[in-house]
Amino acid sequence: MNTLYDMLPVVGQNAACTLAGVYRAYTRHPRIFHRRLAELKRTRDLPLDELYQLQWEQLQKMVSRAQTYVPHYRDLPECSSASDPSVAIRETLDRMPLLTKEVYRENAQSFISADIPKRSILRGRTSGTTGTALPLYASARTVAEEYATVWRLRDAHGVDLQDSHLTFNGQLIVPVKQTKPPYWRNNMYQRQILFSIYHMTTRNLGDYVGAIHDLEFSYVDGYPSALYQAARAMLEQGRPLEKGRMKAIFTSSESLLAYQRETIEEAFGASVWDRYGTAEFAVSMTACSEKNLHVDMEFGIVEVDVLEETDEYVRGPLVVTGFANDVTPFIRYRIGDYGTRLKGECPCGRAGDVFSDVDGRSDDFVITPDGRKIGRLDHIFKDQTTVVEAQIRQTTRESINIIFVPDRRFGPKEEKGLLQEVRSRLGDEIEIRLLPVESIPREANGKFRAVKSVAT
Ligand SMILES: [Zn+2]
Repeated sequence: MNTLYDMLPVVGQNAACTLAGVYRAYTRHPRIFHRRLAELKRTRDLPLDELYQLQWEQLQKMVSRAQTYVPHYRDLPECSSASDPSVAIRETLDRMPLLTKEVYRENAQSFISADIPKRSILRGRTSGTTGTALPLYASARTVAEEYATVWRLRDAHGVDLQDSHLTFNGQLIVPVKQTKPPYWRNNMYQRQILFSIYHMTTRNLGDYVGAIHDLEFSYVDGYPSALYQAARAMLEQGRPLEKGRMKAIFTSSESLLAYQRETIEEAFGASVWDRYGTAEFAVSMTACSEKNLHVDMEFGIVEVDVLEETDEYVRGPLVVTGFANDVTPFIRYRIGDYGTRLKGECPCGRAGDVFSDVDGRSDDFVITPDGRKIGRLDHIFKDQTTVVEAQIRQTTRESINIIFVPDRRFGPKEEKGLLQEVRSRLGDEIEIRLLPVESIPREANGKFRAVKSVAT
């Protein structure tokens, strides 16, 4: 796909990255984006009843439009007539059927709203790391809404659109065969240096660390797993950035694991601000100073299909209703991720629904021989300072393989400690095999998966 690009000299590839930057800036940041961002900044700290009022107005508009223009939703029930917005939202959603990925995948065309001109429809696909890829549709407005939430978070940390930055994400911008630096390209239009995450081998990481020190930039964004690799190399070489040299780090696209956050913050000398969004443009959550994820209530409604409940939280699959995607409205859609919603208010003071974490898909769990589904296993590795990175793979209930990258200090004592830590969470029955490797392969889209399970 990239052959023509691959044949260009580096200066030509920089020009191509810059042109792509111009295109991105115009599709992501049109006038409607700036208007929406200004609105979102105004509504961020509204009290809860006003946020519900906003959601209720959006939900009514969405349902009425869906009934009129979206074939799949023709027979959608009417909205509640309750006068309290929070009650009306609850009653309305309770009447609506749940939407699964399977139903959407098989009938995707019938979700396209007839009032959007065909030429205005942007087409895409989920990356499909597991299962079949989903066809996806959006409009310029959808994309602008999405990026308005991204930039509200960035704005809150003093970052603006003109700031220079480094990006570590899945874009193929350096030919795979290249074996000499630079493993990064320059998008001059957006003052962005794009680092290839596909060339981050032990041999090359020194070049990355050197570049990070040589470049001037205000913030960093990217996949947590890639930033973690760079951060780890910076610390190993005794070359962290001095605190305060740059403003902030923004992660997205993968679950931010506890051990990744600590290392990235230490190496870059700035705080990590995570965001949870999806390719369907159906949900947005952004991090706060308490390391919680707040639902961007103006963007949509998030329900939890409760599987587990304590005094502090409810936990289970997320069911989302998003207001941003006007081409294919998603109403009560099981997005495939799990979340833990806190019952109390967040100490940071921001009102609305707040999650302590969103941790991936149903196949991100390990199943024990007695049938328990265990998630959030990244915490196992949080205190294992001699394990660089690890992935748990499970094909049957009876056993798991832990593929891991040990560092020089990893010995029998560390192995025992790691096994104990795993046993404390998964019990004594499951068979555990530790398999040291030099590196852990990424998915085709460059993303890292902490757990891969096909056991049922
Ligand atoms: Zn908070």
